[in-house]
Amino acid sequence: MSMNVAPEISFSGEQGKVNYAAALRQYPAQAIVDLKAMRDNMAHLVSVVGGPHSGTAVMGVVKADAYGHGLLPSALAALAGGATWLGTAQSHEALLLRKLGIGPERCHILTWVYNGTQVPFDELIAADIDVSVGSLPGIDAVAAAARKLGKPARVHVKVDSGFGRNGFTPAGFDAALAKLVPLAKEGVIEIIGQWSHLAVADSPDVPEFVASTDRQIETFKDFTRRMEAAGIAPQIRHLANTAATLDRPEIHFELTRPGIGLYGYEPDPAMGTPRDWHLTPAMRLQAQLGTVKDVEAGHGISYGRTYLTPDNTSTAIVPLGYADGIHRSASGFDMEGAKHVEKHGGPVRIMTTQGARLLRVCGRVCMDQFIVDLHGSADELGVHEGDTVELFGPGRGEDFAEPTADDWARAADTISYEIFTCLRNRIPRLYEHAAEVLPSEDLVKLDASTLL
Ligand SMILES: *Cc1c(COP(=O)(O)O)cnc(C)c1O
Repeated sequence: MSMNVAPEISFSGEQGKVNYAAALRQYPAQAIVDLKAMRDNMAHLVSVVGGPHSGTAVMGVVKADAYGHGLLPSALAALAGGATWLGTAQSHEALLLRKLGIGPERCHILTWVYNGTQVPFDELIAADIDVSVGSLPGIDAVAAAARKLGKPARVHVKVDSGFGRNGFTPAGFDAALAKLVPLAKEGVIEIIGQWSHLAVADSPDVPEFVASTDRQIETFKDFTRRMEAAGIAPQIRHLANTAATLDRPEIHFELTRPGIGLYGYEPDPAMGTPRDWHLTPAMRLQAQLGTVKDVEAGHGISYGRTYLTPDNTSTAIVPLGYADGIHRSASGFDMEGAKHVEKHGGPVRIMTTQGARLLRVCGRVCMDQFIVDLHGSADELGVHEGDTVELFGPGRGEDFAEPTADDWARAADTISYEIFTCLRNRIPRLYEHAAEVLPSEDLVKLDASTLL
C-alpha cells in the first residue's frame, strides 16, 4: 500500500468515499474545495467590516465560475458565511445563480460586464438582478428593456475613478447624468448604487500605491457629490475589493466586494500570506502519478531537453498539463541549449519514506502531463505509480511542505487568481464539508456526485 493515497480527506460518509473513488476513475486529478474554509473566510470578511449590523454589507464575488472553485457551491458557502450580495462579471452567471435557486428574497446579485447593445437586460431585470451601467449606450439599452417590461431596473452607476477600465470618466459624467436623471425621475430606473474599482492592491509600505488609491477615493467622492447635486444620490456606494476590505476600513462604505479573500488568498503576496489575514485557501489540487521509472544521469526530460537529470534518479509523470490550465510558464529548466539557465518549475508535494518532499516540474509542461525528478530512487523513496500528490493546498506548516497557489503563481510569473481560473473543468471539482456548512435546502441544489 502506498503512502500517498487519499491524503486526509474529510469524508462525510460512505457516499463521499464512493464519489471520491468514482472521481479518481474519471480523471487522474481532482480539485478538492473545502466549503467550510470558504464559509469561514466569508464570515471573517463580514467581521472585518464590523459584522452583519455594521451598515456595511459584503458581496461574495463569484465571477468566472467562482474563480474556478465552482459557481453554485461557492455562492452558497459565501451566503452561509454571511454574504448578502453575490457578484458576477458576466450576466449569464448571474442568471444561472437565480435559475439554480438563489432567489431575490435571499440576496442581491450584481452583474457588470457587457456591451450595452446585446446584454439581456430584459432577463436580468425580470430576474431581479442589479445591473451596472457605465456607458451611454448601456443607459439607453437598460432603459428600453425596463420600459418594455414595465419594471424598473436596479442600476449601479459605474464611475472610472482612475482604474481606466469601465465606467464614466469625470469629463463624461455630465452627459451620463443628463440621461440618468430623467429616467430615475420617471421611475424607469432605480439608482441603487455608485461604484468603482481600485487599481492597486494596497501595500501600506509602498507610498505611491497608497497615494494613487487616495486619489481614486477623492475622485470617487466627487462623483457622489455630483450625483447628489443632480438629485440622484446613490443608496449605496461600493469600492473595496479584498485588499481594501482587509486594510482600508475608511472605504468600506455600504458594501464591499471581496473575491480572492473568499477563496482564501491575500490579493498580492506583497501583503503577506493568507494566514496573516486569517484566511484559509479553500482549494487543494491533487493528481495521481502516472509512470514512475529509473533514468540515468544526463537524461533529457520533456520537449527541448531543457532539463537534464543531474544524477541517476527516478522520474514520475504528473498527468496534468497546459490543457488542464497548468501554466507552461511553470516549466522548470536547468539547461537551454548549451547555455545554463536555472528556473524553478511549479512545486509538487510528494510523500516519501523520508517524509513529505517538495519537488518541482522538470523540463517543459506538456499538454496533458509534466515530469518531476524525484532526486533519488523511487523504490527507496517509496513513490509509486497511482500515488496521490498535491500541487497546491492551504500551505500547512513548514514540515508539511505544502505549496500554495501563490507558489505556483511565482513559478509561472502570474497571480494566484490566474492559477485557479485557468483550471479546466475536465478536472473534477469535489466538495468537502458541504453537509456541515449548508442548510439542507441548499445541499439538495448541488450535484450529489461532487460531495465528499
Ligand atoms: C474581481 C472583482 C472584484 C474582486 O476583486 P478581488 O481582488 O478578488 O477581491 C471586485 N470588484 C470587481 C469589479 C471585480 O471585477
